[in-house]
Amino acid sequence: MSAKALEILKTVYGYDAFRGPQARIVEHLIAGNNAFVLMPTGGGKSLCYQIPAIARPGMGLIVSPLLALMADQVSALRQAGVKAAALNSDLPPEERRDLWEAIETGGLDLLYVAPETLLRGGVLERLGRARLSLIAIDEAHCLSQWGHDFRPSYRQLDILARAFPTTPRMALTATADAPTRGEILAHLGIAEADAFIAGFDRPNIRYAIAEKDNPRAQLKEFLRRHEGESGIVYCLSKRKTDETAAWLRAEGYDALAYHAGMDKAEKEANQLRFQHGEAVVMVATIAFGMGIDKPDVRFVAHLDLPGSLEAYYQETGRAGRDGLPSDTLMLYGHEDIALRSRFIEESDAPEQRKRTERQKLDSLLGLAETAGCRRQVLLSYFGDHCEPCGNCDTCLEPPQLFDGTIAAQKALSCIYRTGERFGQAYVVDVLLGVENDRIAQFGHDKISTFGIGTEHDGRLWRAILRQLIALRLVEVDHAGHGGLSIAPAGREFLRDKPDLMLRVPPPRRARRGKVAGSSPQQSAVPEADRALFQSLRQKRMEIARLQNVPPYVIFHDKTLIELAAARPGSRSEMADIPGVGEAKLDRYGPAFLSVIAKHAE
Ligand code: ADP
Ligand code: ZN
Repeated sequence: MSAKALEILKTVYGYDAFRGPQARIVEHLIAGNNAFVLMPTGGGKSLCYQIPAIARPGMGLIVSPLLALMADQVSALRQAGVKAAALNSDLPPEERRDLWEAIETGGLDLLYVAPETLLRGGVLERLGRARLSLIAIDEAHCLSQWGHDFRPSYRQLDILARAFPTTPRMALTATADAPTRGEILAHLGIAEADAFIAGFDRPNIRYAIAEKDNPRAQLKEFLRRHEGESGIVYCLSKRKTDETAAWLRAEGYDALAYHAGMDKAEKEANQLRFQHGEAVVMVATIAFGMGIDKPDVRFVAHLDLPGSLEAYYQETGRAGRDGLPSDTLMLYGHEDIALRSRFIEESDAPEQRKRTERQKLDSLLGLAETAGCRRQVLLSYFGDHCEPCGNCDTCLEPPQLFDGTIAAQKALSCIYRTGERFGQAYVVDVLLGVENDRIAQFGHDKISTFGIGTEHDGRLWRAILRQLIALRLVEVDHAGHGGLSIAPAGREFLRDKPDLMLRVPPPRRARRGKVAGSSPQQSAVPEADRALFQSLRQKRMEIARLQNVPPYVIFHDKTLIELAAARPGSRSEMADIPGVGEAKLDRYGPAFLSVIAKHAE
């Protein structure tokens, strides 16, 4: 390992060692090679380009899709004493002039720029006069036309290889799928041999998926474990987003909304409040996504089924970027499956595309209904694997299984006898022998399957039907009314009658009384250190407010937790704490040391 890289790691960032593939990547770039880096969110991609950019002579050019992301990175780098800036079209003329002067005279370590600005007339030519240490294209999946974040100007970045043929190029992304990966390599002219692919696991994220039962009560119970923390609550519609945010505010939470129906200024203001706050709950549609660079998002809840397994992975992945324990909860019900199916069937996409979308939905349902480790299902989808993780709901409380052979047969024949066109609620009523007008009107109170399922309650029957859907024995009607029909595999099942184990939904938790488990954040801070941790947090907020920056650019929670545990008494002791580099030690050492000293009195 280059001594210079290690020295930068320690003096600038305050870290002692590289993590995972970072060391190899940094070395590879310092030696002047290209690189493609695929690493999950929170894996530490930024250091992979920042350290080589600083170590090599010249200035690193970083292409980034969003102003908010750039501003955040620049402010974090400046706090650490690095000469970083963002070139954007809104700069006032004199600032712009000064910035170009710094660029051309070698006064900068890192320059962030959006692709549109970079491609504007004259910018590349002017940059040609500066000495570039490397070019990094962050969020490189934006160049993929199939991805969710496609940005046309990213497609034009292939010009960089021709404009700067001798400058090392790197592309970074956390987007996992193979076609996107291939597209990036081909488009930016980076060789397969230069690809660094880390695993996809996010071990600090806890996964939990539950049946939508009483969603508001379920959300409240989940949020109760996260008092004083920031997180995201995803909803499918704008209306539900607004309503949920209003309800949470009435419940005393500092909740904000974010969706595409809001005007730009309001969205930006809410995003800024989220970034700068320590206990803000953002209720959002998927419009709230890529710009989130907040490392201390402690929880992500889904009140509706996400669009796909990738979307679930990306959205939950916004939690715990700082590596501290983080919590997720996804709620879903049968109506979500019907709605998602309708989205697919009603779109004008070609049949080929629809088939892919159906498979994606099936994979997501497979995750939702698995009796095994969620992480194993999630990782296997990306071609990665792990042992049963011990940090998901099914590992922590293994679901109870029962022999569902008979139940499945009864459900399938009830669907068959009622003509394969009714939805879940109706089928369950017939199984339970409920007497109502609708059933009487269709004469289904006279059929052989009426009332054959009274040994189970409605909740268990709903769970059974969802599992039959996830197992592809039952299909949800594609016209979108949620009608259930028997899939080819369901017909085979009725013929062969193989054994089938199904899971029993976990018991409903008591609504009142003690909440099971403590919040992951609280368990990351030992009881004895909590008071000091809170005082350090307060100090950090004071400093952040004065400078109008998010608190985490001063110090991450992880660093405050370490400070609260080690309680350094001097500058040199404080220098040993991970995350305390030289510039921050100079600027903030005295303030935090005095909080610690006062606490000891
Ligand atoms: P990504 O861009 O891949 O999502 P970041 O670059 O934001 O990840 O890094 C995630 C977190 O990990 C940050 O808090 C960063 O300071 C921390 N980190 C990165 N590399 C190291 C390291 N070698 N040692 C300790 N912490 C690290
Ligand atoms: Zn698990």
